[in-house]
Amino acid sequence: MRDTLNEIVVVGAGMAGLHAAEALRAQGFEGRLTLLGEEAHRPYSRPPLSKEVLTGIGMDPSGGGPGWLAGHRALRLRDDAAVDALDLDLRTGTRAVALDPAAREVTVSGPGGAAGTVRYDGLVIATGARARRPDTDLAGVHVLRTLDDAEAVRAAFAPGGRLVVVGAGFVGAEVTASARAAGMDVTLVEAAATPLTRVVDPRIGRLLTELHRENGVDVRLGAGVAGFEGDGRVERVRLTDGSAVEASLVVAGIGVHLNTEWLRGSGVELLADGAVACDRYSATAVPDVYAVGDLANWPHPRYGGRIRLEHWTNAGEQGEAAARNLLAGEGRTPFTPVPYFWSDQYKMKLQLLGQGAPADQVTFVHGSPEDRKFVAFLGRGGMLTGVLGLRSTPRTMRYRGLLEKPTTWDEALAAAGVTPAR
Ligand SMILES: Cc1cc2nc3c(=O)[nH]c(=O)nc-3n(C[C@H](O)[C@H](O)[C@H](O)COP(=O)(O)OP(=O)(O)OC[C@H]3O[C@@H](n4cnc5c(N)ncnc54)[C@H](O)[C@@H]3O)c2cc1C
Repeated sequence: MRDTLNEIVVVGAGMAGLHAAEALRAQGFEGRLTLLGEEAHRPYSRPPLSKEVLTGIGMDPSGGGPGWLAGHRALRLRDDAAVDALDLDLRTGTRAVALDPAAREVTVSGPGGAAGTVRYDGLVIATGARARRPDTDLAGVHVLRTLDDAEAVRAAFAPGGRLVVVGAGFVGAEVTASARAAGMDVTLVEAAATPLTRVVDPRIGRLLTELHRENGVDVRLGAGVAGFEGDGRVERVRLTDGSAVEASLVVAGIGVHLNTEWLRGSGVELLADGAVACDRYSATAVPDVYAVGDLANWPHPRYGGRIRLEHWTNAGEQGEAAARNLLAGEGRTPFTPVPYFWSDQYKMKLQLLGQGAPADQVTFVHGSPEDRKFVAFLGRGGMLTGVLGLRSTPRTMRYRGLLEKPTTWDEALAAAGVTPAR
């Protein structure tokens, strides 16, 4: 381990930041370790926000012990004792506002706006993303990124209430499913022709549309939002096709802004979408500064270019990998994960290994969309690029090894016992 690192600062106390901090300690870093987080909460897990927190299923009403996560056991990344054992200077309610690489300092705004600086020898940037907000001040229009957002949405759920979900990405789709479970009337509005166009092949997108409709959702595809109407509080959503949908509640899942504005002018390279440009070790252009999680963009040898993932598992894996590389100095290891994402909707688990789109070949190697249970291979340019499973966890995960190295389409089909069609 390098002996020039006495103070390491991790900015962003989410999944990626916590894993980076844990890995630094696990690798034997004994110096001063500071974890800065803008939210008032200790690190927590976001996936349950659109699932268990909204449905109440899997929550622990007995509280699972005293403290800030009482009643939110599903959300806990670690219990308080495990976080305390890291011997961190954990500063919640503290926002990084600027980075000065020459002085090796992060300027922060603490509770009550108190300004200060934190010195570092090594820095991990893990400030993730925030939800894009629709352009309206009307009450009753929500987004879903934080625990506070989720609690506000849950409080507004009411059986028989009319929810309009804007955007059929994963967050929108899960909010839709959770709201149906809570007895709400739901209209799902999506500007594209199929849901999740950027993430999965349209054939899968069509299946997801059918699932919503079978569960009583009014799905409006190819319709954007023209505006929100109401007197102080939302009453209806006007669509670009001229129609209007009554609404007592709106949840918008229309993507994110990356939390990287605080890095402007620092020398850390930001790409057009605000992502931090990293090399294959997750290092930025600034010495001893790494970036991880939703905001990191890096070259991946098996996907023919640079990638950025908004995936929970990736945030943890990249946090750990970057921490190891920061400490290693020489002998660093390129970060070449098999991307993994899951989504839970209508009591069905959808899992994606690798990339879901674009794909020029899709073959269902087990089951079928009609069965609502399958494993599909996705390919591009004669290579296997992704494995997608619905209600098929063991079978899906069995093929992970095929994506750890380049695998041709025919090799992949052979591994699944499927004869290639000629
Ligand atoms: C509702 C929801 C459901 C999801 N479901 C799934 C799922 O089923 N499967 C899946 O794979 N992924 C899912 N995801 C995505 C997954 O949660 C993210 O990929 C993951 O949280 C990214 O972790 P991160 O640490 O990079 O960023 P974040 O989780 O965004 O954490 C960044 C932290 O940094 C803090 N911060 C921001 N700016 C500053 C600053 N300037 N100074 C200090 N702190 C700052 C933020 O407050 C935040 O706490 C879901 C996300 C959401 C919102």
